[in-house]
Amino acid sequence: MAKLKIAVLGATGMVGQRFIAGLQNHPYFELGVLAASERSVGKRYAEAAKWYIEGDIPKDVASMRVELIDKKVIRDYGIDLAFSAIPAEIAREVEGSFAQEIPVFSNTKTYRMDDDVPLMIPEINPGHFDLIKAQQKKRGWKGYIITNPNCTTVGFALPLKPIYDALGVDWVTLTSMQALSGAGYEGVPSMAIVDNIIPYIGGEEEKCELEPLKILGSISAGKVKNADFKVIASCNRVAVLDGHMISTVVGTKKDFTVEDVKEIFRKFKGEPQKMKLPTAPDPAIIVRDEDDRPQPRRDRNAGGGMAVTVGRIMKKQERVLRFTSLSHNTIRGAAGASILNAELAYKKKLL
Ligand code: NAP
Repeated sequence: MAKLKIAVLGATGMVGQRFIAGLQNHPYFELGVLAASERSVGKRYAEAAKWYIEGDIPKDVASMRVELIDKKVIRDYGIDLAFSAIPAEIAREVEGSFAQEIPVFSNTKTYRMDDDVPLMIPEINPGHFDLIKAQQKKRGWKGYIITNPNCTTVGFALPLKPIYDALGVDWVTLTSMQALSGAGYEGVPSMAIVDNIIPYIGGEEEKCELEPLKILGSISAGKVKNADFKVIASCNRVAVLDGHMISTVVGTKKDFTVEDVKEIFRKFKGEPQKMKLPTAPDPAIIVRDEDDRPQPRRDRNAGGGMAVTVGRIMKKQERVLRFTSLSHNTIRGAAGASILNAELAYKKKLL
């Protein structure tokens, strides 16, 4: 079967680059258009992008011409779906205009909390694809928008899912230590972050507190009914290039032993693993028993950057669980998350 043609919106940025890397030799998808801002239009990709990923820009990509982000490219290049990694401020108009015609898999926060838009981690809530029909009807779109969560949310929501199912959750508190690539190339000046930790990332704590409730929510009467527990987040920027680390404490409804929890994590499989999707990590959650793991440098590329590594699993008191998790913020936390959502949509014949 012919591969579907992809437009990457925001192709020159941190996340856009990860889309390009993640779509190399993909069995379902191939790059059709790389689009970015006026600053980059007309340049060869290699001139326009400050490539930050290890290794060189793929040869055929380096010479591609960067196009303007305009839905005209859908017709001009025969595009079947778009992956979006553009600034949130322009996403409502831009992603909406593409979704009038084709499916859009978005990394931006703009549509995430809209009632009719799925916010998905495919191992957790594949059933939320059911919102697509209502979305198309309400907005009069032929396409649709599927969002993936903030790069920090995925790193604790994924391990939280099997705990939620097996033990129940009353409350969650978390402290994140987030990598620099999470802020984009121009994000954090080196003078601000070298020899330092910044205890503030605008809007991040609110996203971590709300997004998991929608993701773990159930669909009822065509709407998401949010999960019913409280999350309190403290988010910090640290001088690491890639890989967000999160220390999470969970108040559970049922009591447990540490061995129970390790077994719950180890056994966890979602639809992407059961369907053996091309970029699905298996296992999705890697349990480390060493006292000093996970670590960004050693664990961020686990499962091709798509697995969440969990360690420091402890029972702090009755029904109080502590663990530390680590995930790659621009792969599992961004481009890889969108690609996995699209792979599941492809298998479910939604593309
Ligand atoms: P980035 O490195 O700053 O890249 C931004 C991209 O958007 C570039 O391709 C840029 O093109 C393009 N762009 C900027 N202004 C534009 C405009 N006015 N019109 C059209 N295109 C424009 O940012 P990023 O880190 O990749 O993040 C992209 C999006 O993903 C953001 O919404 C971010 O919040 C979200 N996200 C990021 C992460 C992460 O870990 N970095 C994780 C999850 C979600 P030029 O190069 O031509 O300027």
